[in-house]
Formats: sequence, structure tokens, C-alpha cells
Amino acid sequence: MREANRIVIIGAGPVGLCLALALAQEDVRVCLIETLGDDNFLDQVPRAGTNHPATLEMFDRIGLYARIEPRGIIAPVFHYWDRAEGALIAAFDHVHLKDDTRFPYVLQCERIKIVEEALQMAKAHPNIDLRLETTFTAFEQDADKVVAHVVNPAGEREAIAGRYIVSGEGARSIVRKDLGIEFEGFTYADRTLNIEVAYDFRRHGYAERNYISDPVEWSNLFHWKGPPDRWRVHFPTAPEEDEAALQRPEALQARLQGFLPKAGGYDICGSNLYTVHQRVAQKFRIGRAILAGDSAHVNSPIGAMGMNSGVHDALNLADKLVQILRGQAQEAVLDRYERQRRHVAIKHTQAQTIRNKRLLAEQDPAIRRRNNDELRRTAEDPKLAREFLLRSSLITSLREAGEIQ
Ligand SMILES: Cc1cc2nc3c(=O)[nH]c(=O)nc-3n(C[C@H](O)[C@H](O)[C@H](O)COP(=O)(O)OP(=O)(O)OC[C@H]3O[C@@H](n4cnc5c(N)ncnc54)[C@H](O)[C@@H]3O)c2cc1C
Repeated sequence: MREANRIVIIGAGPVGLCLALALAQEDVRVCLIETLGDDNFLDQVPRAGTNHPATLEMFDRIGLYARIEPRGIIAPVFHYWDRAEGALIAAFDHVHLKDDTRFPYVLQCERIKIVEEALQMAKAHPNIDLRLETTFTAFEQDADKVVAHVVNPAGEREAIAGRYIVSGEGARSIVRKDLGIEFEGFTYADRTLNIEVAYDFRRHGYAERNYISDPVEWSNLFHWKGPPDRWRVHFPTAPEEDEAALQRPEALQARLQGFLPKAGGYDICGSNLYTVHQRVAQKFRIGRAILAGDSAHVNSPIGAMGMNSGVHDALNLADKLVQILRGQAQEAVLDRYERQRRHVAIKHTQAQTIRNKRLLAEQDPAIRRRNNDELRRTAEDPKLAREFLLRSSLITSLREAGEIQ
């Protein structure tokens, strides 16, 4: 009976892992399939890292927060800077959310640390059958079950059955493609260059998390806990620029020196280039196959909403799957999952991240001035600042989703 009710989750990213833990803790059996193995799980490129208050509450619910807090930086304040003016425009303090959340701050803690800790928890949980080094290739479903086809570490084909399959595979989801679901939206022509550097930018007045607008070269600047402590700086690049040339050590130094001149050069720890997509799946579920996280929606990292909203998908979905398996809800409750989370993806995450990029890259001087004035006014007025922070920290979107039946 318990095997028949098993949930098959593809992908041990933050979304797959949080879903697996939330289900397992409610006594649901899970088979979690991940293509990476113990020997290369931690070799993933730097990605998410800013964790918003609502997400911290969810991490706490599944016992993950206590494990990641010591590995991260508690950051109550974030900044908007104008590079052309060389000025701090606005400082937003999450203290305005002290009556809205137990966590009135973001935790700067990289995705890799989160998945490392969550993976340890998954390995220790008796309800989770964790299959590392196992690659999902296809699936089929009928009225009673799903069957996932995988290639196991021995290179053999295997079929894994369950009651539902959840794609936490990330943006290239095979489940989404097999279901023929459109991934609607667009891809920016410019790619973003990420440079990781060991230098303490706080001595120049920066906070742990900074959004820096500039008509020529906007950037983001984030602090991560070491040792050694590192800062991540994002810069836009032109579509025609060559990937290798962009990442030559002297090119990286030149970018950083242009941003903030420093005698003796910067100690660069790494770099990578990534393409930014703004896309939402047309459907989040067909039958027993469900999409969550990046397999359902992808967006620009400006505003730190991708992983956060993916974790929100995971916990929303976990609650509904538990209700179905306990006979407390009909399968139609999964349509509510789609209505709630697709609404958030389109009306909040997409809209906000597209706005965030436009704000940083705005070229028109008059609009830039107006934007800066508005940010200043918002940060200085406690009521407006709270409303702004409720939106930026994804609390508004969660509350709104809660109202959707
Ligand atoms: C530079 C950058 C910065 C970012 N910063 C932030 C931020 O600060 N905050 C934020 O909220 N978001 C941020 N994001 C977005 C965030 O990284 C993603 O939204 C998040 O990682 C999505 O999680 P996921 O679990 O859905 O998918 P993923 O993290 O992509 O994980 C998918 C997992 O599935 C596995 N997998 C894939 N295919 C298969 C298969 N066929 N078989 C088995 N396993 C498979 C993969 O190996 C991987 O482990 C950022 C992204 C980038 C690029």
C-alpha cells in the first residue's frame, strides 16, 4: 500500500529536496532521483543564494534552517545604488517586517550549501529512497500510477513506479517536454557575467546585498560566508562578446577595476556566464505528473526569486499531496496548486524580476531620476517600506496565493 502511494521526485535541487523532506516528515514514501553522485554533487556552478523571510520559515518547518543559518550571513538591510552618481539611493531594512515574520532578514546562503545540508537530511530519512547517480530519461502514466524510467549507477535501465511524479529537474525538465507543455516567455539576448571575488566591499559602504543601477553597466553585489568570505558581482555583457574572452583573468580584473578601482588588483575566486530566461510553463500538471521550481518557471536572478518561489511551490505541493494520500482531499486540489503557483509565477515573480532588470538598466536620465526619487521616498516612509519589503520578500505573493481557491 505504501509503495503504491510513493511519490517519485526527479532532481535533488533545492525544490526536489525540500519537497522530499516535507513529504517524508508526514510519513509519505518518496523516491528521489538525482543524476549527480556523491563525487560530483558539490561541483555545481554558483547560483541562488539570497533566501527571503517566507522561505526561511519554510526551511525552519522542515528542520533545514538550523543547519544553514551557521553557514550563511544574516542580512537585514539591502541597498540600491546609482553607479553613475556614485551614490547610495535607498537602504531597505527588513525590521519593518518584524510583525509579519519570525525572520525579519534574508539569509545569504548559497544554493550549494542548502542542497548539501538537505541532502544529508534526505540520506538519513527512512522514508526517502535517494537514488544518486541515477538519470531519469522518460516516464509514462495511467489512471492508477506513474512509471519513471531511469539509468542507474550500473548503467542499467530501471523502472520506478509511484502514485505521482514531480519534476524538480530544473529548467530543462524532461517531464515538461514529454508532456508537450509550452514554456512561454522569452530569453534575454545579453548574458550575465558572474565574478566571485575575495574582497570586503563593506569598507566602501556597501551592504551584504546591493542592486546597482547604471545606464551602461548595472550590477548586483552580494556577500557570501567563507572561509574565505567571497563577494559575487554580476555584470551585463553584449550578446556578441566571446565567452572565453569575457572570462580571461585580465578582462575580469578590468571589469572589477572599472566598478571600483583597487590598487594591487582583486583576488578573483571564479567566474561564469549565464543566460537569463523569463518563462512560465503553460500548465503545472497533467494527470499524475506535476512541475515545480525551475521546471515550471524561470526568471532573472535580480530580486532573488527563482529558488525562493520554487521552495514555495514545493511546500504548497507537499501539503496537497499529503491531503490526497490521506484521503482528505480529491486530486482536484492539485489544480488549486497550479492556480496558486502559476498566478504567483506570472503576476509576481515574472513581473517583479522583469521590472527589477529594467530599473537597474534604465537609460533615460529623467526616468532614472524618477525611479531613484521613488526608491528614496519608499525607503524613508515606514508604511511604504513595509509594503515594498512584503513584496520583495515574497510574503505578499504567498498571502495572495492563499486567497486563491
Ligand atoms: C546566477 C544565478 C543566481 C541566482 N540567484 C538566486 C537567488 O539569489 N535566489 C533565488 O531564489 N534564486 C536564484 N537563482 C535561481 C535558482 O538558482 C533556481 O531557481 C533554483 O536553483 C531552482 O531550483 P530547482 O530545484 O527547481 O532546480 P535546480 O536547482 O536546477 O536543480 C535540478 C536538479 O535536478 C537534477 N536533474 C536534472 N535533470 C535530471 C535528470 N534527467 N535525472 C536526474 N536528475 C536530474 C540536477 O542535477 C539538479 O540537481 C539564481 C540563478 C542563477 C543562474
